[in-house]
Amino acid sequence: MNDKKTILITGGAGFIGSALIRYIIKNTPHIAVNIDKLTYSGNLESLGSINSSNNYIFEQVDICNGNELQRVLTNTQPDIIMHLAAESHVDRSIDGPGDFIKTNIVGTFTLLEQTRSYWQLLEGVKKENFRFLHVSTDEVYGDLEGTTDFFSEETPYDPSSPYSATKASSDHLVRAWHRTYGLPVLITNCSNNYGPCQFPEKLIPHVILNALEGKNLPIYGDGKQIRDWLYVEDHVSALMRVAIDGNVGETYNIGGNNEIQNIEVVKKICIILDEIVIKKMNGITSFIELITYVKDRPGHDVRYAINAKKIQKNLGWKPKEDFESGIRKTVEWYLNNKTWSENIQNGSYKLERLGVNLK
Ligand code: NAD
Repeated sequence: MNDKKTILITGGAGFIGSALIRYIIKNTPHIAVNIDKLTYSGNLESLGSINSSNNYIFEQVDICNGNELQRVLTNTQPDIIMHLAAESHVDRSIDGPGDFIKTNIVGTFTLLEQTRSYWQLLEGVKKENFRFLHVSTDEVYGDLEGTTDFFSEETPYDPSSPYSATKASSDHLVRAWHRTYGLPVLITNCSNNYGPCQFPEKLIPHVILNALEGKNLPIYGDGKQIRDWLYVEDHVSALMRVAIDGNVGETYNIGGNNEIQNIEVVKKICIILDEIVIKKMNGITSFIELITYVKDRPGHDVRYAINAKKIQKNLGWKPKEDFESGIRKTVEWYLNNKTWSENIQNGSYKLERLGVNLK
């Protein structure tokens, strides 16, 4: 961990990618090269705290552009590639799957091909130690019927949405490039993340920001869908552990051991906001009064839960935050960094799906 490496991160201006780059610059001697197309969810403001570091390089590149990838790989000579760039929002994938096919499947294919050409020309220790870490999701496994099953690394793939189907596809491509060409890959499948700098279309920031504006807090269906929530900084520390110490060719599931129903997540946020800001709001006695139930998302998975024993046992990783501590930090971050979200909300951002405006 102490020798200086060059780590190329795709999607480094996104929610998890920016947390990863902040972690690398603040806690390691490594150089972080950020490749990002800057789609609607890419935001360089999330990297403001490290952007003047000599160890940070940004390249605005689309991972579907092979020539541009080749240029950056040749110029920066990475030791590790961590692939996070993706279209990542399930609702958007239902409305328009095309961009998901392009970035998640064709983009991953293009990156794998360019990485293979680059890696084949490496020599000695640099070639031996090279790693390609593909960052994926637990949604590739579909959903769990009962309350006692967990997704393990052996669970068969059964994706439900266009998003998860394209992520599953990219996982298969990555495994094939290992099996067929020997590319030294690792794959991680992680549960739902939350924390600072998450784009406001996702459940937790959406609820915090709507509540602060006194708007309705929309809950899909009965709100009883269960997710296993992981604080983003814990995900990032797991990714670093896998990239540096993981066994080539293997998959690691990453989870927070925090299974919570969506409705409970929303109520928890309301309770924290009641404590911190309610005295300043007019007309309501608790943010819980803003909760409204809306028509469920088509194909909505009921329960995801991760068995993260392998990464705990083999790599000694476990999360530092539980949901109580992580959600409090997250709410406080959004309260203390209002400009970050105002700059997004002032733009054309609207949370819409299937013609229904959920704001
Ligand atoms: P995000 O949407 O916040 O960020 C995605 C980033 O990728 C953005 O900066 C965007 O500009 C960039 N990007 C999109 N298309 C690109 C392209 N063609 N070329 C280059 N850059 C492009 O997503 P996130 O939540 O940070 O997720 C990152 C990764 O982690 C994704 O691969 C996602 O599938 C995976 N993941 C996310 C979660 C979660 O809860 N958020 C959980 C498990 C796994």
